[in-house]
Amino acid sequence: MHAAAYSHFGLPYRYVALRVAPGEMGAALDHLTHLGYRGVNITVPLKSEALAYCSSVDDFARRVDAVNTIDLRTRGGFNTDGAGFLRTIQDFPGEVLVCGAGGSARAIVGSMSLAGRRLRIWNRTISRAEQLAAEWPNATVEPELRLRDASTVVNATAATLGGEGLNLDWQNGRSDLVAYDLMYQTEPGPFLRAATKHGFRTMDGLPMLAAQGALSFRFWLADEIGDADPYPEMLDAVTRPKT
Ligand code: NAP
Repeated sequence: MHAAAYSHFGLPYRYVALRVAPGEMGAALDHLTHLGYRGVNITVPLKSEALAYCSSVDDFARRVDAVNTIDLRTRGGFNTDGAGFLRTIQDFPGEVLVCGAGGSARAIVGSMSLAGRRLRIWNRTISRAEQLAAEWPNATVEPELRLRDASTVVNATAATLGGEGLNLDWQNGRSDLVAYDLMYQTEPGPFLRAATKHGFRTMDGLPMLAAQGALSFRFWLADEIGDADPYPEMLDAVTRPKT
């Protein structure tokens, strides 16, 4: 999706994937800076270590203890997961049931809370949901996995990765419920399949992937693309059927 946006804006850059072991991030990023890399995205499990590397970090990234975007020229760190997710959920107003309290849940709960959304948080390990809810206004803990009045249910757990669904009371969902799985894969996982079976609208994690990527892109390259928004090209690149 970054390549599609470079091509759209006529920029001569490349986006590459590199594996870095925990504990080696500082040396790796110093080396990339030396080689002339402009910026990096960081993914699990290195987002906290990335925060420690940065000389300046935006308030949101500090609050969620995760940096996923660094400008290597300034060593400035940023988190685009929260704002990226928020962009994708704007069309779905109302109460949100968030399932999960890991890294991605921290970012999406924080961004929705700051935007004034009403949230309930359920997590397999309830103490983590309690801790997360205590950090943000408008967020409460849901001890049982119940839809109640939710207009959106977000699966921010890693259950789909293991081929598992969530034991939700789908039969009690509102007719306008949207089931949103942060995970993306070629075929819908058990969570989205169950929602579809019960007649609900669904959404996977690809729009969030594109939206957080577009914010990273702008963080590095705003001086070259002005006010332009790379999101449409990036979304198209990740959702276009592969030939
Ligand atoms: P994480 O930090 O490892 O957190 C995992 C969460 O899943 C925890 O809340 C954990 O509960 C829960 N969990 C794990 N297995 C479970 C199961 N079998 N049943 C119920 N809960 C389970 O992971 P993460 O980084 O937040 O990622 C979560 C998901 O979001 C992944 O599928 C990832 O691919 C996706 N994601 C998507 C995007 C995007 O751009 N679309 C961005 C980031 C992440 P406990 O606390 O009880 O262990």
